[in-house]
Amino acid sequence: MSSTLRFQVVGEAFKKHPIDVPTPKERPSEFFAKYVFNRQKMMQYLPVDVYHKMIDVMDNKATLDMETADVVADAMKRWAMSLGVTHITHWFQPLTEGTAEKHDGFVEHDGKGGMVEEFTGKQLVQQEPDASSFPSGGIRSTFEARGYSAWDPASPVFVMGDTLMIPTVFIAYTGEALDYKAPLKKALHAVDKAAADVARYFYPDVRKVSSNLGWEQEYFLVDEDLYAARPDLLMTGRTLMGHDSAKNQQMDDHYFGSIPERVVAFMRDLEIKALELGIPCKTRHNEVAPNQFELAPIFEETNLAVDHNMLMMSLMKKVARKHGFRCLLHEKPFAGVNGSGKHNNWSLTTDTGILLHAPGKTQLDNLRFITFIVETLMAVWKHNGLLKASIVSATNAHRLGANEAPPAIISSFLGKQLSDVLEHLEQADDNEILLSGKQEMHLGIPQIPEILVDNTDRNRTSPFAFTGNRFEFRAVGSEANCASAMIALNAAVAEALISFKERVDKKIAELSGKAEFTKGGHSAVYHAIIEVLREDIKTCKPIHFDGNGYSEEWKQEAARRGLDVEASCPLVIDRYLDDASVKMFALTKVFNRAELEARNEIKWETYTKKIQIEARIFGDLCLNHIIPVATRYQSTLIDNVHKLHEIFDDDTAKSLSCDNISLIKQISEHTRYITTHVNKLIDARRVANRIESEREKAIAYHDTVAPLLEDIRYHVDKLELIVDDELWPLPKYREILFIR
Ligand code: ADP
Ligand code: MG
Repeated sequence: MSSTLRFQVVGEAFKKHPIDVPTPKERPSEFFAKYVFNRQKMMQYLPVDVYHKMIDVMDNKATLDMETADVVADAMKRWAMSLGVTHITHWFQPLTEGTAEKHDGFVEHDGKGGMVEEFTGKQLVQQEPDASSFPSGGIRSTFEARGYSAWDPASPVFVMGDTLMIPTVFIAYTGEALDYKAPLKKALHAVDKAAADVARYFYPDVRKVSSNLGWEQEYFLVDEDLYAARPDLLMTGRTLMGHDSAKNQQMDDHYFGSIPERVVAFMRDLEIKALELGIPCKTRHNEVAPNQFELAPIFEETNLAVDHNMLMMSLMKKVARKHGFRCLLHEKPFAGVNGSGKHNNWSLTTDTGILLHAPGKTQLDNLRFITFIVETLMAVWKHNGLLKASIVSATNAHRLGANEAPPAIISSFLGKQLSDVLEHLEQADDNEILLSGKQEMHLGIPQIPEILVDNTDRNRTSPFAFTGNRFEFRAVGSEANCASAMIALNAAVAEALISFKERVDKKIAELSGKAEFTKGGHSAVYHAIIEVLREDIKTCKPIHFDGNGYSEEWKQEAARRGLDVEASCPLVIDRYLDDASVKMFALTKVFNRAELEARNEIKWETYTKKIQIEARIFGDLCLNHIIPVATRYQSTLIDNVHKLHEIFDDDTAKSLSCDNISLIKQISEHTRYITTHVNKLIDARRVANRIESEREKAIAYHDTVAPLLEDIRYHVDKLELIVDDELWPLPKYREILFIR
């Protein structure tokens, strides 16, 4: 593609996609969840007794009987057909990226040679999608290759186009999970039980605790035609070469700047579609890098929030195309500018409406607050390596540890007030201080509500930051399924709370016999909790770090503290098989060892494949695009040198052609480097491909293939600066990165 052509493309994009801001006739409150079979629609379409049964299934995890399922399926069918729906699909989240679906028509033979629309409870509840080519890490050996999808009534069915979408789990015939949703639901169940048990120390009427997730999705938009002219973007989701644009994010003028009109039109369209699907979109703004944006809904229950994020990601891609854009969800589409993450804002709430990670007004509330903060930190401290493993990937690896995003070490930022409170609690060695007051808490805790409201000293370098009433897990990749991080976090916190409860109960039993401990007006429970917390604050101290997470000193310090500092993705994945992880997942009944092993196989295999594809396309681009063009330009220069010699005497010609001679040499040096190293790249792949073990193969790809890509890229990017712009075959950063 010549530069003239590239400029035309940029100009045409605007003409081809005139700004078309959709304006719905109704207010958001009216079209919200229009395409969702939510409680309101259930009420409308179901008989009262069935409605109540369904509520019991959804809220209290009651089992769904087939008779009820039949009635529900019929109601769904009637509702869906009123929207013109003809097909149904079980919608699930296999261990690849994204979601999967297999559509079936509503139709059945009527036995009289005709057709009827039919949708039964059995079809709703369970299907066998014969999806045997999804990765299973060897769990489904061929003779029992059956995988089942089963309805998750906690996530409402919805309509997209002509299809009724049914959120499901995807499991093997033998019961092992083949997806993200099944283990997520188990982890959420574990944290529900463990947190409710602890919450009852403070509020005896608590029956349930749910986990909240508010994700903030970052993404890039690029013009579709330019995207199509970049085979690397097309195949891998990122640019494998491309010199920095003279201007990128150094002026900080994009962040929170005004949003280009064409982008606003896209956002508006996307928001309307998302709201119709019941996704409570709220925030949108520019991000740090040019062409980078963010979108966030209001937080929801974690299982639903994960489904909504998956749905949103596919919606973003679809709607972007309608506006002549491509939406890039890759964590690092462009070198030299910020990458994209997906902050996971996480907290726990009781069914009585108490946000367990938020400070309160009374002494009791604040002790509960400290309890949940400290036990979360215990989980994050104990499983910091595992939490990192839950968010690593070949694509997120470009972000972690680079100077923009969470470092490759998990630590937690607490801010000054909360740090002070914990320190105070840890160091007050006399329970009498705590006993002496009546309603006053002698921990300095009553001040928390006022102070923490204004918790503005946010530390952007922390991968797990406390932000007032929640923790923000910032290391999650933009492209990832949030479930991976949410499984590890919720299960780990469940384990910490279980251990906390055991130790507190034991202490209560010890203390109850000692009258002097209760005479000051505080129960044995109170003292037991404080004592265990004091112990835990000491134990989990290494995870607490409020300093600069990007600094070199922190790496050393973190290693001294015993935190996991491994940065190689294939090695970080090992953390899933650590004894502590296996025990924790067994205790919480989320994964057994076989599942963990199988899932790791898939992770290593996926890692290898990603780098393998990048290496192939990169080699092709170098040999078929870059070298020929550089050589052609070099020939032009050589030609010019010859011609100078034809018309001038030798000395004059020499002096006039010295700059070109220097360029000719530089081009030769770069092209030679590229050619020899692309051959090395091919050899490195060959060697790696022969390795049998998925783990060892991934390590070889990480150690020997991936670094060559960066290495060679340097020379390609240098050539981009030398070669005539008219000849350069790929759209440049300055063209792709600035939407007009
Ligand atoms: P930021 O300043 O980090 O961009 P936002 O106000 O945009 O924060 O909120 C980020 C996300 O956090 C939103 O989805 C919001 O609903 C969510 N959120 C707010 N409070 C909580 C909470 N207690 N638990 C979980 N998520 C929350
Ligand atoms: Mg945030």
